[in-house]
Amino acid sequence: MDMKTEKKTLNLKERYRLLTRDLGWEPSYRSADEVFPYVKYEGIKVHDWGKWEDPFRLTMDAYWKYQAEKERKFYAIVDAHAQNNGHLNITDARYLSALKLFLQAISPGEYAAGKGFARVGREFPGVGTQVACQMQALDEIRHAQTQIHALSNYNKYYDGFHAFADARDRIWYTSVARSFFDDAMSAGPFEFMIAIGFSFEYVLTNLLFVPFMSGAAYNGDMATVTFGFSAQSDEARHMTLGLECIKFMLEQDPDNLPIVQGWIDKWFWRGFRVLGLVSTMMDYMLPKRVMSWREAWEIYGVENGGALFRDLARYGVRPPKGWDDAEKAIDHMSHQIMLGLYQWSFGTSFHSWIPSDDDMEWLAKKYPTTFDKYYRPRWNHIKKLAAAGTPFKNFGLAKLCQCCQLPVVFTEPDDPTLLCNRETVYEGEKYHFCSDGCQQVFENEPEKYVQAWLPMPQLFQMFDGDVAAWMDWVSLRDGHDNGDYDGSRDQQNFQQWRGLATSNQ
Ligand code: FE
Ligand code: ZN
Repeated sequence: MDMKTEKKTLNLKERYRLLTRDLGWEPSYRSADEVFPYVKYEGIKVHDWGKWEDPFRLTMDAYWKYQAEKERKFYAIVDAHAQNNGHLNITDARYLSALKLFLQAISPGEYAAGKGFARVGREFPGVGTQVACQMQALDEIRHAQTQIHALSNYNKYYDGFHAFADARDRIWYTSVARSFFDDAMSAGPFEFMIAIGFSFEYVLTNLLFVPFMSGAAYNGDMATVTFGFSAQSDEARHMTLGLECIKFMLEQDPDNLPIVQGWIDKWFWRGFRVLGLVSTMMDYMLPKRVMSWREAWEIYGVENGGALFRDLARYGVRPPKGWDDAEKAIDHMSHQIMLGLYQWSFGTSFHSWIPSDDDMEWLAKKYPTTFDKYYRPRWNHIKKLAAAGTPFKNFGLAKLCQCCQLPVVFTEPDDPTLLCNRETVYEGEKYHFCSDGCQQVFENEPEKYVQAWLPMPQLFQMFDGDVAAWMDWVSLRDGHDNGDYDGSRDQQNFQQWRGLATSNQ
């Protein structure tokens, strides 16, 4: 006899509904304001959380299945890379500087994003939002882990990888990325979503990941290509979440527009400054280059970013305030930062070098209006000093921008021969900035940025100018991790090992 059984399997839509909407409930013995104390204090008005459109419908079990599959593939390739001495397939050990910078400055940012999304997932009342944030929190932690695992293999053979966590906390150039994420994590939930979900993931991530991953592929680094691919499919979800959140805020109440616009202005500029490190990596650190920073900006900034802001114009959003200044800086920033990294190379946990004649030819071709005019003469001068046995080293302390924390090395937007320096006096104290953009961020929230921890003055406050004690504190091994690439242990080892792998000597 046929038994009538209940339908056991739910379709995807039903499962998603059970996972999200049916998990939400109205609090009974506490008010909604008590349960979600942070959601109103930024001034964003939300009338109906039910209007939140989930940009992707992914159930938890499907999520784990996809991610587990990716992990299996990832670790299979990373294992193969380790067992087959994949590190000897890179073009040149100079390439490792880009990896070190990535591990010290960017991977900890992934981890910070994970913490941030876990927090905003708790702070937002909408269940669809909570689930999306929870998944992104897990994604970001996974990104940090896969990156650390992929790069740990290089740590067995090369300098500069061993103390990335100390570098992240204490070295000056990593502070640029760290202060960006600290700023986002200490903001309210909506601002966090604009900072990471929108500005970072949607506007800037292509300028970071695409050139970096193609740079890795061009330079034979399969370990990095693999973590890039593994993160790529998450990225699409993250970008959708960021864009959905911004549209939700704009649709909920017209009063939200000026607040959202202010955040777009702020986080575009903060992100743009972080990209300064990426520009240097692209133009100087990749032995085999994919495209110049200028070319990447044309595609991912001007074209993609331009299309995005044309789309958002219907909500009354205009392009970020610093956009024009950014455009004026594109042909200068990588050169200005590399000159900085070179002169302060005693304090970097990676190597830098004077560009070769070939490098300079390439740079002149890619930057026809600026390189020969402003930067080649400086490099030539530095080259002469090095040849005379008196290399240009700056043991003085750079003045750091109170907002982005980069040394104040940039020039005026309309005069590349004049250093740009802005000052604001707040409660009797003077603060320095690298640009109008950074100064404005400070002036909108001075009470936040006066608290910023600046890594360079630390050298004087804690160690009384004792560079060796400072190096100890940041876990920098003098003569191994820092300084010029030429003559470094990395250079010598790489040449020797590669020679062993490719000859009978
Ligand atoms: Fe990520
Ligand atoms: Zn700045």
